Amino acid sequence: MGMSLEISSVRDGDALSKISPARQDEISLNEQWARVRARLQAEVGEVEYRTWLKQVALAGVAGDEVTVILPTRFLRDWVNKEYGELITAFWQAENPAIRNVEIRTGTQTRGTAPSLTEAPAPVQTLAAAPAAPVQPARPESAAPLDQRFTFDTFVVGKPNEFAYACARRVAEAPATPGFNPLFLYGGVGLGKTHLMHAIAWELSNRGNGRAPVSVAYMSAEKFMYRFINALRSQSTLEFKNELRSVDVLMIDDLQFLIGKDNTQEEFFHTFNALVDAGKQIVISADKSPSDLSGLEDRLRTRLGCGMVADLHATTFELRYSILEAKAQRAGVDVPPRVLEFLARKITTNNRELEGALNRLVAHANLFNRPLTMETAHEVLHDVLKAHDRKISIQEIQKRVAEHYNIRIAEMSSARRARNIARPRQIAMYLAKQLTSKSLPDIGRHFGDRDHTTVMHAVNRVSELIAQDAAFAEDVDLLRRTLES
Ligand code: ADP
Ligand code: MG
Repeated sequence: MGMSLEISSVRDGDALSKISPARQDEISLNEQWARVRARLQAEVGEVEYRTWLKQVALAGVAGDEVTVILPTRFLRDWVNKEYGELITAFWQAENPAIRNVEIRTGTQTRGTAPSLTEAPAPVQTLAAAPAAPVQPARPESAAPLDQRFTFDTFVVGKPNEFAYACARRVAEAPATPGFNPLFLYGGVGLGKTHLMHAIAWELSNRGNGRAPVSVAYMSAEKFMYRFINALRSQSTLEFKNELRSVDVLMIDDLQFLIGKDNTQEEFFHTFNALVDAGKQIVISADKSPSDLSGLEDRLRTRLGCGMVADLHATTFELRYSILEAKAQRAGVDVPPRVLEFLARKITTNNRELEGALNRLVAHANLFNRPLTMETAHEVLHDVLKAHDRKISIQEIQKRVAEHYNIRIAEMSSARRARNIARPRQIAMYLAKQLTSKSLPDIGRHFGDRDHTTVMHAVNRVSELIAQDAAFAEDVDLLRRTLES
């Protein structure tokens, strides 16, 4: 597939003529690599991709060999063992001249050539691929369900209990008035897809002699592609009939339809036809119906007229419970200290949390050694680095002032009344704990106080934490909100 030749025939001849042949090869190589990555992602699914493959970087090509690099030995070995063959196959499909893919450790600094830190490791053989899960009967256009996404494996906590209850309800009794459509929304990785699959599994495995329910689950993106294909092959009628024959239609990530007017129109009609026929619709999106600007008003109105449930950002408690449940399910003994550490550090979403745990579990299984904080640090150093959010002293002062209901200016004022001096001391203590600033530096941020004053504050707060449980809890709460 002579990719480098294609590049030179791009219209903008002037710009291209300045690019050297070597540079063109590099561009085409990067494009090939982008396609290999996209295929890997489609093949293994998003969670697995993010856990293992996102880190793989292209180092270069020499002769018929491509070299890709990973930041740690552990990742290198794992990717080699689990994905080596797949990566090679996709590369060969992109570029038949490639005979071999080397997977090494190394780091890539942005904008500069990657450096290899080690001699190549021998390529290991691949383990057999796991058997595909048994899928329920479903219309042809639906997407397969993830067998791990069931109600059993969904951990319920404050941020998601309402959405969970609604999903349960729909799975029990689809098309109950007031719950149709069910509209689930929330940020990335908070469990929308998980809940939708759980509903679908439940409905397609109904016991007690209840009639099976036909469910079609698909992403809005897939809906669009199916629709466009139907238009192309002049089979829109079949597409419509097929969708309208299901009992439950689920469309995931509806925000994708913003700006896709024809598809939106088609979806609107399908939606109406199904609701009018007493069928259940379940939708997910990243925002509430009213915040999904760019959707047609009449569609937005209809989306919001059933049950709207949001998945809130996770809390430390929920993250901890999810990790605990997943570790248990994987049969790996992860010390509470490690679970707590991860739950504090990885606060963005459950997908990343799960990815981090998967790595630890794989590590434990591979080396058959108990997990420790040291292994967690080592195995996850790249993930943790990305999450090392820098907390500023200003942020601490603001939060603490809000918490104790004092003006932020009091953090730097000379007033010594207890109700002001104590919060100020707490802020100094937190600044010492959560930032890498020195005592004199911290003092400067608090109205140019001396470093001995800061030291006194740190000691005093430490004493109070040891003596007074309620006080300790208060400070801990502040620390956690600052860290999340
Ligand atoms: P979304 O669709 O909202 O982006 P997903 O449903 O794909 O998020 O969830 C991301 C990952 O986190 C999945 O692997 C899912 O199983 C897991 N996850 C999310 N919420 C929970 C939860 N409450 N309990 C257990 N796993 C969860
Ligand atoms: Mg999703």
